[in-house]
Amino acid sequence: MKPLELRRHKEIIAFKAEDESITAFHAYNLEVADISAESFAQMTPIPVTTGEIPDVKLPINPEEKEAFEALNEWNSEENPNAKSGKLDFGIRSITLNVNQICNLKCTYCAAGGDGTYGEPMNKLSVEKTLPQLKFFLSQLKPGQRFGISFVGGEPLLHPEAILAIHNYVFEIADQLKVIPSMQIVTNGTLLTGKTLEIVRSMKVKITFSIDGSKEYNDKARPTKNGESSTDLTVAGIKSILKDRGNVVSIGLSAVCSKDSPSMLNTYQFFETLNPDWCDFTLNYSENSPDLQARFIKEVNEIAKIAYSTGGEEKLRKIQYFDHIFALLDTQRRIENHCGAGKTYAMIDAKNRMYTCPWDAGKPAEVVGQNEQYDHTKLANYSKPLIELNNCQTCWARHLCGGGCMHINRELTGHKHKKDQMFCERMRSLLLTTIMYYKISRSAA
Ligand code: SF4
Ligand code: SF4
Repeated sequence: MKPLELRRHKEIIAFKAEDESITAFHAYNLEVADISAESFAQMTPIPVTTGEIPDVKLPINPEEKEAFEALNEWNSEENPNAKSGKLDFGIRSITLNVNQICNLKCTYCAAGGDGTYGEPMNKLSVEKTLPQLKFFLSQLKPGQRFGISFVGGEPLLHPEAILAIHNYVFEIADQLKVIPSMQIVTNGTLLTGKTLEIVRSMKVKITFSIDGSKEYNDKARPTKNGESSTDLTVAGIKSILKDRGNVVSIGLSAVCSKDSPSMLNTYQFFETLNPDWCDFTLNYSENSPDLQARFIKEVNEIAKIAYSTGGEEKLRKIQYFDHIFALLDTQRRIENHCGAGKTYAMIDAKNRMYTCPWDAGKPAEVVGQNEQYDHTKLANYSKPLIELNNCQTCWARHLCGGGCMHINRELTGHKHKKDQMFCERMRSLLLTTIMYYKISRSAA
């Protein structure tokens, strides 16, 4: 099933699905509900490409007036359970470049094309990183969470450095009564022998980057010598799935690109490995409307297969759907697509801080070093992204949070100038999620 025929009345959108059922969503109150066919008829048709509020369609006869009034009434209601998602400054999650070198050379690598960000670094200094992490942890209140994502290059080229940081952070977090969580994002090709043992000993989530079966993954993610990497990655995934030790969860993350365009094939391949979760993103840098259309279509097909074979639980094994379901359940009105410059920092292998992983290696984007913030530069990020990116009228704003500044800069030349393809992709997939959310909650 797919969402079709979109309409809007002020803060309310509604759409028909293939089976003619109508689903409505209140953009400010984060409520999903049924509405009558009469009320749907009173709404103004809009394309998924627009975030503007259309002109109101005035009713003519008494029946139309009644349906129009029902819409107005819901529109002006205030949901007391919907909470503000405002973010105040305070770093609660970081991405750490364990190194800036890689044993693969993926065709779409955003880290300088080879994992180096234009500045190859063999390994971060553990001695300099521990005090920096202690600094972040000491700013937190007891009970607060702190997340670390270990990335590279390929972080598992240096597993001992990750282990030393892991053990130190758990020790300090215990003293400070804060809750750490850690993730390793890896290509999985090095998970043998001592490295496998080290990874199994840690309390981490592992994200494997893999773009489908060998036929596709080898094209998109060859080794730096141009050889096949897939058998090594699949062997690494299977080793961890077989005996995960303390590992918290295992996920597979795929990029849809010209070299691996079918997310449906990729999902079917992932199913044979049975990870805890998986995720799909589009290689936006190709800027291809055809690839985007295929991506949206196939993610809809994946949702249909997942939901029809395993209901909400299976659908939510796909990270994107899980994230949006959680927002709708908690009714947290997000105002930022990510915590860049507010709650999130990227740390490169020289302990320089940035607001976004893809800023590493850009001197103008440095916002701190070791235990020092550059508050003048960080002040540029203090307003909600919805406001900075002019998303105030978009119906998707409190689920999207104003979009990605990195994608904006790459495709429009400015961090705060929205990329229209991103908006279309985001809104299309939100409609699908809202539709399955309504089906799940009415089935409960
Ligand atoms: S970036 Fe997100 S919130 Fe902003 S207009 Fe696009 S879809 Fe809407
Ligand atoms: S700006 Fe985009 S790429 Fe950068 S941290 Fe935010 S969501 Fe991620």
